[in-house]
Amino acid sequence: MNAPAAPTDVMPHVMPTYGRLPIALSHGQGAEVWDTTGRRYLDGLSGIAVNTLGHNHPKLVPALQEQVSQMIHCCNYYQVPLQEELAKMLVERSGLTNVFFCNSGLEANEAALKIARKFGHDKGIDRAEVVVYEKAFHGRSIATLSATGNPKVHAGFEPLVEGFVRVPLNDIAALEEVARTNPNVTAVFLEVIQGEGGVNPARSDYLQAVRALCDKQGWLLMLDEVQCGIGRTGKWFAHQWSGVLPDVMPLAKGLGSGVPIGAVVCGPKAAHVLKPGNHGTTFGGNPLAMRAGVETLKIMEADGLMANAAHVGEHLMAALRREFAGMPGVVEIRGQGLMIGIELDRPCGIILNRALDAGLLLSVTADKVVRLLPPLIFTTAQADELVGILAPIVRQFLSEPQA
Ligand SMILES: *Cc1c(COP(=O)(O)O)cnc(C)c1O
Repeated sequence: MNAPAAPTDVMPHVMPTYGRLPIALSHGQGAEVWDTTGRRYLDGLSGIAVNTLGHNHPKLVPALQEQVSQMIHCCNYYQVPLQEELAKMLVERSGLTNVFFCNSGLEANEAALKIARKFGHDKGIDRAEVVVYEKAFHGRSIATLSATGNPKVHAGFEPLVEGFVRVPLNDIAALEEVARTNPNVTAVFLEVIQGEGGVNPARSDYLQAVRALCDKQGWLLMLDEVQCGIGRTGKWFAHQWSGVLPDVMPLAKGLGSGVPIGAVVCGPKAAHVLKPGNHGTTFGGNPLAMRAGVETLKIMEADGLMANAAHVGEHLMAALRREFAGMPGVVEIRGQGLMIGIELDRPCGIILNRALDAGLLLSVTADKVVRLLPPLIFTTAQADELVGILAPIVRQFLSEPQA
């Protein structure tokens, strides 16, 4: 068993905002990575749902090398044809109509929140409010941390941004109560599967009821697919399992396979709310990020990676259930495709360290949930290897007396 904390003096000039594990990764190939001492790890995390195509993908790398040599950045004073190319691809795959590009998840969510407020102002609601959720995670800027439903993320950064109403997930009565009592609401904002909150899926019938209520009330439905989108669940976007169409869909993480990128995809009710001068970004939509997005989507399609995510995800889920079903201490195994959470009955952060020691990268979120987010190129053999490493660690952990 290893001590959980990295030595604190190995990166003395970097602000200490993360609890880092005691290794540095140097390179990767597919779903395997190596650290600077030459040790190999199986990648069950994808840099938090970012490395969609794994590492050193044979089609992505030459495309990005070519792009770097042509143009990395030019700014939005000019037309950027690659923006139109990626926007068209996202619009065709989502059934929505227009895209704004930025650089990260929180930026995509900031843009969504600006749209929700402007949408309200345009129809005479001066103090627009947005419905957000318990256990939600939307980012670390002042507005998106205020939308986040985690007191630890809020602590020390008050005053929070106003204009949020919070409800529990999958409880339509709570949302109907907001509709009855709050005339200032302009949008409902949620993750289709909560990621940082512990891999908590919104039920399909709930999403359908929220869509119907949004239509009745004239609210925007804004679905944060920053973590669960881009093929991870086995469809382009996680909400597509429920058949609903959002009005606003922030994307980021997996869209660029590792190149920083964010996007807000909007339908007709939201696409023309922001007018020239209302919003902008220096880096957003730069040719390198756009090329990464275009190539990611093309490769996902050509290589059948959504079908792969669904298939390998089912295989992984079945293997995990075989190992853990009925085991005392395992509360629930849930998720879809290659976004899976194993909830234990006690805080289990140490599993992160033990998995690392055993050669497996994963995450523990919401204190008690082991979270798996492997790249979409994962194979069933790699899923079996993952379970082979993880199962004895969890079994051992649960057999120890609770601290
Ligand atoms: C990671 C995440 C964000 C924040 O994205 P950043 O790129 O870290 O700003 C927002 N929403 C969800 C659902 C996320 O998982």
